[in-house]
Amino acid sequence: MLTADVNLARVKRRLIRTIRLYPILALAVLALAYFLGAFTEQKDSLVPQSALLTGLYLFVGLVPLLFIIGFIFLGGAADREFKKKGSEKERLFTSDPFLLPQEVMFGHKLVLITNRPPTLTGLTGDSYRADDVATCDLDPSHVPPVVDCECGFYAYRGFDDAKFELTLNPGCFLIDVDLFGIGFIYKRGFRAESQVVKKLHLPKRCMRCHILPAKIFVSKYKIGYSSTPWWQWQIYCQYCSRGFKKEHRLAINEMLEALAIE
Ligand SMILES: [Zn+2]
Ligand SMILES: [Zn+2]
Repeated sequence: MLTADVNLARVKRRLIRTIRLYPILALAVLALAYFLGAFTEQKDSLVPQSALLTGLYLFVGLVPLLFIIGFIFLGGAADREFKKKGSEKERLFTSDPFLLPQEVMFGHKLVLITNRPPTLTGLTGDSYRADDVATCDLDPSHVPPVVDCECGFYAYRGFDDAKFELTLNPGCFLIDVDLFGIGFIYKRGFRAESQVVKKLHLPKRCMRCHILPAKIFVSKYKIGYSSTPWWQWQIYCQYCSRGFKKEHRLAINEMLEALAIE
């Protein structure tokens, strides 16, 4: 699978390199045609003028066509490879509640920092502490995770999966978590009984201007979908955080302390 990928990429690189040579090649062909007398009337030329012109037309028409065919072929091969990979992935990550993880459950997920004092809040709206045990909103008798319920702490196994999720939810932060207790393998990660937040990843750039380095947490008042207003913490640069009052600002170490993340 990997080698097919590498081969495809190599062929593509070669094709692109050859296309870059095309203008030079075209000039060389034109010069050759000129010296062979393609553009002057000569009776005793080495090669008949009509043959030279036909050759030029073929060159102008055929070579780009060959490149186009090459790209169409490569595109098709890449699509097939992608589909194959997709189906393999599907097989690997099908959620099976009876499949218990055989490894340390370490994962990554997205979190919002809300309220005052700052609180970790999942995308589902449930808040939790840095070291917490899952509870079930749907059935208080559940000790999460329960097989046919949604309860438990979720985390992606792959950092890239969480990072991709972050691009869809720009107000969030990435965290690393250790999961404990009973855990199920769930699609691309785990669903488990308890969770300890190990690390809060901070964006390098300000979450407002996306230009200057992120320096300080500030809290803003948000009106949510359910029209209940709430405080949201973001990390801003020195410039964008101007004008926030002292009680709406937290240094990075103060934030980690408030969230009880080591
Ligand atoms: Zn439940
Ligand atoms: Zn800024």
